[in-house]
Amino acid sequence: MSNSVTKCLEGVQIAGPTPGFDVVIVGAGFAGMYMLHRARLLGLRVCAIEKATDVGGVWYWNRYPGARCDVESLQYSYSFSEELQQEWHWSERFAAQPEILTYASHVADRFDLRRDIRFSTGVTEAHYDEAAALWQLQTDQGESLTTRFCIMATGCLSNARTPPLPGLDDFTGKTYHTGEWPHEGVDFSGQRVGVIGTGSSGLQAIPMLAAQAKELVVFQRTPNFSLPARNAPMDEAYEKAWKAQYPQKRQKAREETLSGVLYDRSSLKAHESSAEDRQNEYERRWAGGGINFMHSFNDLMQNMSSNETAADFVRAKIRATVHKPEVADLLAPKDHPIGSKRICVDSNYYATYNRENVTLVDLRAAPIVSITPTGLQTADQHYQLDSLVFATGYDAMTGALLKMNITGRHGKSLADCWQEGPRTYLGLAIAGFPNMFTITGPGSPSVLSNMIFAIEQHVDWIVDCLSHLRVQNITSIEADAQAQDAWVEHVNHVADQTLFPLANSWYMGANVPGKPRVFMPYAGGVGPYRQKCDDVAAKGYEGFHLQALPAHAPL
Ligand code: NAP
Repeated sequence: MSNSVTKCLEGVQIAGPTPGFDVVIVGAGFAGMYMLHRARLLGLRVCAIEKATDVGGVWYWNRYPGARCDVESLQYSYSFSEELQQEWHWSERFAAQPEILTYASHVADRFDLRRDIRFSTGVTEAHYDEAAALWQLQTDQGESLTTRFCIMATGCLSNARTPPLPGLDDFTGKTYHTGEWPHEGVDFSGQRVGVIGTGSSGLQAIPMLAAQAKELVVFQRTPNFSLPARNAPMDEAYEKAWKAQYPQKRQKAREETLSGVLYDRSSLKAHESSAEDRQNEYERRWAGGGINFMHSFNDLMQNMSSNETAADFVRAKIRATVHKPEVADLLAPKDHPIGSKRICVDSNYYATYNRENVTLVDLRAAPIVSITPTGLQTADQHYQLDSLVFATGYDAMTGALLKMNITGRHGKSLADCWQEGPRTYLGLAIAGFPNMFTITGPGSPSVLSNMIFAIEQHVDWIVDCLSHLRVQNITSIEADAQAQDAWVEHVNHVADQTLFPLANSWYMGANVPGKPRVFMPYAGGVGPYRQKCDDVAAKGYEGFHLQALPAHAPL
């Protein structure tokens, strides 16, 4: 509970509860770390609460073999400190998970962040106390914390999901989830291993598991499009040239792109180009590797027939790589436009199916019936397994927030407010939940962009907002319900101009049975989005209610 005290500020007597903290941040991944750094620079009393034993967020948990970022290292890194971006050396074009985690740890050391992070602690409840105008948080360590502002840095892909398959508890082998991988690693040598799931995580893990296990059985429900990474050691000259222009490149990525990543964006439309030109361009980009392929033409995500030309190209590559035509056919996606589900980037994924020890099982033809004590039973066969790997993804974007039992004004729970899907203002705030911010929340570009840039933009905006509130002696900020409605409508409208809603993706909540089908991220692009957020701030936080509550201490 908050203690009621009298505070004297600039000669004004203010009676009211003083929270234990000005700001509590939930999560110490890349969002929580940067938020902590900036809040401390503001001189705020701040702490971060983190379930893991160390920093890193998604890169702390995702230690599965093959885990690697698919945004180039020189771009997937903090930009807030020129010294930091100059001094850090990435060893590969696309950094692997251990290197990204080492980078997170380096940042924590460099900015001395750990002293204000409570590790091994989860928030089990967050309740807004209207009378006291502060947040009360309960942790799984039995603590109660009070804070004026609560900042959710809980990540978009942090709530790992294992489907509740019948018989799972009876399995006598070991089970793993890619998103909660054991820190000590796993040796699958000599084992019969099953993998369920062929999204980004599965596609990265499968070639590594195949190289180690005696037998690997991949249980595929839906094939995904994947592009070759063409990962390589960092080219020294490339790194040097990039670093020489870091500030300009970062600014360009921030302000002039849709995704916050500098790609080689074409200004041509696929459907206006000749078949030969298209083929040449797709070949060139396929050879170059990475998501650059999706920028071969500028209408791939808007025009179905253009999209189909790129999808056909990738399907042809799959057929050219996989020796057995029936396996190639199963691996070739046909049910969604390319890019409408998160595109995967792999190293040797399709060729892995040419190995003698790898079997692909089509769960569309014969669905899983149950997990048995010794393996997995589909509608037509039993597979004997020693270990089972779930690469089954996340309750994305909303799962981590809803798990926390958040209640706002009038005791209304976030779960009730979001029964029909998440509703936010700018992905940053929620009507009915004063003084709470969501970093990369639903309704912001987040997962459609360079996550670290999306994080930095949100943190910078929140920090400017907190400074403004402090200068103005404002104690409470809350999104207006109508402004929120208008934003949600805009987010939906923008999504409807794209091919994204055509896929049963986790962007749509389609991977979790019973989850409302709503396209959650903002597809309008990071540049225009940043402009909107800046305009809102410039207009005195338009669409927010700001209140100076005389009975309560400001920041
Ligand atoms: P995901 O994309 O949601 O894929 C989950 C997979 O599990 C899908 O193939 C899904 O099949 C399958 N699945 C789920 N429940 C199942 C069930 N009951 N039975 C059979 N199959 C089931 O999850 P993810 O691969 O962990 O990737 C999530 C996101 O994390 C990515 O999209 C990406 O944004 C991010 N990520 C990025 C990287 C990177 O930077 N390279 C790496 C890993 C992850 P259906 O499609 O049929 O549902």
